[in-house]
Amino acid sequence: MMNEEIPNLTAFDEAALDKAFALLERQAREGAAALSGAEAVEAFRLQWLGRKQGRLKEVSERWMKAAPPESRKALGLRFNALKPVVEALLDAALGSGPTDAALAGEALDITLPGARRLTGAEHPITRTMNEITGVFAALGYSVGVGPEVETDYYNFECMNFPPDHPARDTQDTLVISGQERRPRRDRLLLRTHTSPVQMRTMEAQPPPVRIVIPGKVHRNDAADATHSPIFHQVEGLCVDANITFSDLKGTLDHAMKALFGSAVKTRFFPSFFPFTEPSADVQISCIFCGGKGCRKCKNSGWIELLGCGMVDPVVFAFAAQKQPAYDPKKISGFAFGMGAERIAMMKYGVSEIGKFYDEDMRFLEQFA
Ligand SMILES: [Zn+2]
Repeated sequence: MMNEEIPNLTAFDEAALDKAFALLERQAREGAAALSGAEAVEAFRLQWLGRKQGRLKEVSERWMKAAPPESRKALGLRFNALKPVVEALLDAALGSGPTDAALAGEALDITLPGARRLTGAEHPITRTMNEITGVFAALGYSVGVGPEVETDYYNFECMNFPPDHPARDTQDTLVISGQERRPRRDRLLLRTHTSPVQMRTMEAQPPPVRIVIPGKVHRNDAADATHSPIFHQVEGLCVDANITFSDLKGTLDHAMKALFGSAVKTRFFPSFFPFTEPSADVQISCIFCGGKGCRKCKNSGWIELLGCGMVDPVVFAFAAQKQPAYDPKKISGFAFGMGAERIAMMKYGVSEIGKFYDEDMRFLEQFA
């Protein structure tokens, strides 16, 4: 198509050359002015400057061939002058960018507020467990973990629960279905406490042992203001030669002061747990009224917070089946456990346990 438009040059004097090149330049300028979009610009470049079929090349070859020798220099000079003109037109077409209409279509309102990205924060339960774990870590305890789906053996049998203990009933414990044909000790259930990790730790290593065990536990409880079928415990176990009840009292008194402030007092009451003997409930002086008596402590001045006791020799005997060093005649130890939710509710003044699981950002953001 372009070739047809190439005029044949018959005269090669200065005036004829000026006229011919002025026509070429006008064609280039008109073509460049009509360009829109990167594809059109590239087509224009090929059309004019293409190495094989470009218009400048074809015109120059044809005119050079037709020109008498004395006019070739003038012809060449004019081609050399025309090429940068076409290149400048190309640059201008490329640099002109999108049209006003295209820009309007992509307009951004930079005055709109940006999308707010939430930064992560510890859930109050996680934070509470980390705080408790941190207190014991500072005393040299390491952190123990274990499976949430446990066997009857680890959850109950080795913790000295008798076969008819009510905790083993499905009314209290969530069990995995279809286990009836297995031996009782192998039946799977959702652990009701973190105590199985005590046994798993003792089976894995000889004494001394100092571990703190934060973890999720499950019970077949109806949810109410203070109960949830899922909650979290932090347990601890200390086993060595000559561990006494005094060590237990000193350790827990220190831990409660570290968690709730140095003014907090502790007191121990006899209690019962299958896996400790003797066992005790631990109360701390009310952190809300300082012990004077208020609604939170039911006017007693004390709040019950955790259970503890000296590890029952029967439990050591189970551990000794795999680690003979747990000989109840040579070693002793204590264990304790507390509910993370209960402590978090006290620390943060939360009256309903369900608030922790509601995924209500307005509630959770208070702790971020
Ligand atoms: Zn009180």
